[in-house]
Formats: sequence, structure tokens, C-alpha cells
Amino acid sequence: MEAKDIKKTKTLLQSSENIVITCHKGPDGDAIGSSLALYLYLKKQGKSVTVIVPDDFPFFLKWLPESEHIILYDADKDAANTIINKADLIFTLDFNALHRTGDMLEVLSNASAKFIMIDHHQQPDDYAEVTYSDTTICSTCQMVYHFIDALGDINTIDTDIANCIYTGIMTDTGSFRFRSTTSTTHRVIANLIDLGIDNAKIHQNVYDSNSYNRLQLLGKSLTNLKVIPELNTAYISLSAEEQNDFNAQKGDTEGVVNYALSLQGIKLAAIFKEDQNSGLIKISLRSKGDFSVNEFSRAHFNGGGHTNAAGGASTLSLKETLDKFISILPDYKKELS
Ligand code: 5GP
Ligand code: MN
Repeated sequence: MEAKDIKKTKTLLQSSENIVITCHKGPDGDAIGSSLALYLYLKKQGKSVTVIVPDDFPFFLKWLPESEHIILYDADKDAANTIINKADLIFTLDFNALHRTGDMLEVLSNASAKFIMIDHHQQPDDYAEVTYSDTTICSTCQMVYHFIDALGDINTIDTDIANCIYTGIMTDTGSFRFRSTTSTTHRVIANLIDLGIDNAKIHQNVYDSNSYNRLQLLGKSLTNLKVIPELNTAYISLSAEEQNDFNAQKGDTEGVVNYALSLQGIKLAAIFKEDQNSGLIKISLRSKGDFSVNEFSRAHFNGGGHTNAAGGASTLSLKETLDKFISILPDYKKELS
């Protein structure tokens, strides 16, 4: 964090009583972990703080400390709007553009509060008083650690805060295996373990809580896996009906796209999921090497993210979306070969 941003942040915090923390729609481990870590830290500073997230988060994060106090915007709009309109300061975590909050966009755009962004996605929008953006850092959770450190409060990080930070670093780095995992990441992790967290238990909570249905849905996903060998691409599709067959719950398909990416020689992997509620096709993209799924998704699927992990959506039918994907790919033959 730059010195001028640290100074500005301190001033903003001093003059703010009511603080809201929010994150992107479809919150993941990093979004929820960073929101709760910051929440716990600011509460310790005596602030009145509320975490409001656009919609529900996966069952495997519900053990996180204070997660039961998170307000789901889509379930409690009136109460959430009142709190947001009363806020002096709003932290936006783990996203780079306000529209990533879905239905919260309107109330956030009209809020009188000042904004502080903490995020590691590419090409951040310019809406915040303080934009702490660093695309080289693996996770927003690691950034929250550096943020607390920069404010001179590293000693206030307790076991609960450490649990939250560890969770987001673990989920966003694929359990410390992605290239974004640096020696600094490992130093931060070492400090968190020294604070008494049970790292093996956190991993179990997140990754070993599968239902039978979830594993069967994974089986279906792998059955649906298609490969385009000449373009080193693999993709999975899941219709709404297929998801219903296995009573799919929020988070059940998280990580499934990585199986497609794990195929030998594959450079681009995708999963296309029909979302019954929104009628949209939700897309997760992953790549290896230089192929930027952030650019690819921005260009074709109204999304974005990082070089090697991005998301997007399509308003076409599942079949039309797959056809579009397959027809675009040959334009990238050089990059994918
Ligand atoms: P996932 O595929 O796990 O949903 O998302 C992969 C990464 O891309 C995450 O860091 C996520 O926050 C980001 N992402 C997902 N969807 C979008 C989108 O529509 N726009 C942008 N800018 N980023 C996205
Ligand atoms: Mn993240």
C-alpha cells in the first residue's frame, strides 16, 4: 500500500462510525474470508460494522467465525438499503467494478458514503477514495493482512481473523499451488499458523464436506467433458435439469472446471452452467500459461477476472452459448496451440 493511501485510509477510518463491507455476487472463499477478516478487525477498533453480500455463499464457508451475521442482500433488501444509506464508509472487497455486486449496484451507486476498494483483479474501476489494487497478490485475503499491517495493527490479528484470512488464501491459490502463491504468501501463512489456527481443519472444513449428490454431480460433469484437442481446450456443460437431478446446492460445482484444466496438454478450460433463477448461462474459465481468460471473457462473455481465472455470462441458451464458444476458438488457434 502506498503511503498516501495509508494516510487517507487512517483519516477516513477516524471520521467513520458506520461501516459497510461488501463483496462480489456469488461470493467465494476469498470474498467471504476477506470480508469477515476486515469486519472482525474493524469491530476491534470499536466501529459499527456490517457485512452485506449480494447473495448466498457456499455451505462449506458457513463455519467461518461471525458468518452467521452476514446479511444477504437478495433476502433482506430493505434492511440492507437502510444500513448502506446510513454508512459513512463502504469497503468493497474482491471485485474491480461495482456492477459485480449485481442488484446492489443501484444502492451502492447512490450511497453518500466514501469507498475503499481492496482487490486483486485486473483493470479496476475508479470509484473509490482509496483504491488498494494489486493484481500480483494471490488473494484479497492476503491484501487484508497487508492492509492491517500497513495501518500498524498487525498485533490485533487474532485466531478468528487468521482463520478467515487463511481460508481465502487457501481457496484462491488452489491450496497454495497456483503461480500467484509467492514466498510472501507463505510467510503470511506461517504467521497465521503461529497465531494458532488449525490449518488441516480449515482444509477439511472447505474441501471434505461433500454430499453424495455433489460427488454424483461431479461424475455427471466429468461425463459431459468435451475436448477439442487441436485447440488444447476442454469444457464441461451442465443444464439446469442435470443440476436438479443431483439437487445441486450453491458451491457444488466450485472447482469442477479445474478437472478440465488438469487434462494433459490443456491450455484452456471452461464450464458452462445453466442458471435456472437468472436464466443466464454462467461461465467459469481457466487457463495455463499466457492465454488470458480475462481478455477472452471481456471480449466475448461480458466478464473478466485474472489472466488464468475468469468468469462471465451469456444470455443465449446453453446450446447457443456452447456453439458460440466453439466458433470463436479458432480465432485463438495461435495462442492455444
Ligand atoms: P469463477 O470462475 O470462480 O466464478 O471466477 C474466477 C475469477 O474471475 C474470480 O476471481 C472472480 O471474482 C472473477 N470473475 C467471475 N465472474 C466475473 C465477471 O463477470 N466479471 C469480472 N470482472 N470478474 C469475474
Ligand atoms: Mn479473490
